[in-house]
Amino acid sequence: MKNGSCCGNSEPQKDDSKSECGCGFIEYRDQCRIPNPSKPSVMVDEGFLKDFEEYAGSLGIKKVGYALVTPDVVIAERFIQYPSAIVLTAEMDEELIKTAPGEEARRLNSSLYDRLAEMTFRLADYLRERGYFAEAIHPMSGILNLTLMAQRAGIGFKGHSGLLITPESGPAQKVSAIITSIASLPLKDDNEHEWITEYCKRCGKCIRACPEEALIEFKGCCSSSVVLMDERCIGCSQGCTFCIENCPFYTKGYHHIRSRFERLMAKPEAAANSR
Ligand code: SF4
Ligand code: SF4
Repeated sequence: MKNGSCCGNSEPQKDDSKSECGCGFIEYRDQCRIPNPSKPSVMVDEGFLKDFEEYAGSLGIKKVGYALVTPDVVIAERFIQYPSAIVLTAEMDEELIKTAPGEEARRLNSSLYDRLAEMTFRLADYLRERGYFAEAIHPMSGILNLTLMAQRAGIGFKGHSGLLITPESGPAQKVSAIITSIASLPLKDDNEHEWITEYCKRCGKCIRACPEEALIEFKGCCSSSVVLMDERCIGCSQGCTFCIENCPFYTKGYHHIRSRFERLMAKPEAAANSR
């Protein structure tokens, strides 16, 4: 049981450790075609990252961000070679979201994980070829808390469903990362999407929509939190996406929700209740 939501499924070897979504820690083999350089470079300029982002976009990556790999985002007990990472997202399409839980939805979900993994390995190759260390973190590996990494990169913010919510894709995306020797990444100091937590406190649609009652809200005297009972969640095993398709960030879109929330918070009584 942990804060968060779920992921997809795939074959590989796993051990008993727990991943972010409860599917177990899975170690994926390095599928890069180019070996890491023996003496990796550490500096890049803006032009390099612009080219990298363009290449990522051409492969199908929706969003690129940059974050530090600090101990709180490392789930697996494993040595992480460099403290810098590039965070990547790939959008879930409507077919996947609208397909009812079952074998077909599971297949579509796994297929997106596979596609994002393939893009991540190709982007790691891109870096290696240019003299940088790069370790692709498979979106299902459970080595890093990828939602937290994306949040730290300023790409979006974690909602009550445990899913990353972004302006581009709402709650409908998968996340991967590349650990790299590049030491001069443009890191973010703040996150403009933090308000999402406050919105979620007033919404709760994902909790009510979950057919397995896997999202449990705990209310305290002055705060509340939502916990994912991962052993109940069928996101991995059946491709369930009810918490996504019922989320206002999916049905109405990020910008609509943001302006509605800002109007609401402009009213004195609403602002006072949020304190
Ligand atoms: S709605 Fe589906 S994917 Fe979301 S938490 Fe519940 S069981 Fe898991
Ligand atoms: S459904 Fe509501 S509570 Fe759940 S993540 Fe979306 S906005 Fe937040």
